[in-house]
Amino acid sequence: MSKTPVIIVHGGAWAIPDSLAEGSVQGVRLASTVGYKVLGAGGSAVDAVEEAVRSMEDNPVFDAGVGSVLNADGEVEMDAVIMDGRDLKSGAVGCVQNIKNPISLARAVMEKTDHTLIVGKGANKFAEEVNAVTLPTNQLVTETARREWEELMKFRTTVTKLFSPRDTVQKESVPVAPGHDTVGAVALDTQGNIAFGTSTGGITAKRPGRIGDSPIIGAGGYADNNIGGVSTTGHGESIAKVCLAKHITHLMEGGMTPQTASETALTFMAKRVQGSGGVVVLNDNGNIGRHFTTERMAWAWVKDNVLHHGLNPGEDFSENVK
Ligand code: ASP
Repeated sequence: MSKTPVIIVHGGAWAIPDSLAEGSVQGVRLASTVGYKVLGAGGSAVDAVEEAVRSMEDNPVFDAGVGSVLNADGEVEMDAVIMDGRDLKSGAVGCVQNIKNPISLARAVMEKTDHTLIVGKGANKFAEEVNAVTLPTNQLVTETARREWEELMKFRTTVTKLFSPRDTVQKESVPVAPGHDTVGAVALDTQGNIAFGTSTGGITAKRPGRIGDSPIIGAGGYADNNIGGVSTTGHGESIAKVCLAKHITHLMEGGMTPQTASETALTFMAKRVQGSGGVVVLNDNGNIGRHFTTERMAWAWVKDNVLHHGLNPGEDFSENVK
């Protein structure tokens, strides 16, 4: 029996400044609509998450593809992952440079190699083999990302503070630091297949070679047709420690709704490793969950031609998709 298609996306969980708020909301609304159209035309969940994530990678407001943040050496190193819930096949890249759409390179890893994760020089060499579209670093770096890097290098402030739980954020101690908008999407197609994708430039002033949670299966996301799918965002080291995406999937497998599983897992992460973040979740019935413990997270989802979106805690706006 054909399923009702659903897609849910996020544009990063952190203390999104007002200057980026509107752009982030518009970006997730657009990405969810792009992915939904793919599903509506009979496209697969993998196609839909790839297109939704590409739309956010091409949007300079987000920390993925164009707009990626800079590492301590002032360079861009990006991570991305995609997973097909039909057979748990997945592909990921870490620390890639000069790639326009890391999510599509991750898909090539999934479909054209026997591996699940390729990093650094090897990933860029693979990109050449598959003719991935490249962009010189200066076209990936936005003025905002450059300014944020200069600020953070000057203050040497730990970026962990940007992912502090809402009630403990000390704004005055954190320099203005736009650009932690990792992006992600989870989709259910008409065939009942579930997929997820996540893409990021990581966190500003990270050590060169640092890979957080995003391209790691079970941390940056998970998808299993029999249970559901998850894409995560937030403080990568915390997310990796608790295998956040797999944790949520496990809770859903035990019977929890996507929303309760999201809240339970993020509460666990806050208590166990004092980390914050956000998640978007779908189960195999197309029920959604979204939750974040940072100040803000831009999210949007579409089902039955109705688009929901929000940014601040408690928000849920809806509109018809044209
Ligand atoms: N999780 C990402 C990382 O640590 C950052 C983010 O989600 O904003 O690389």
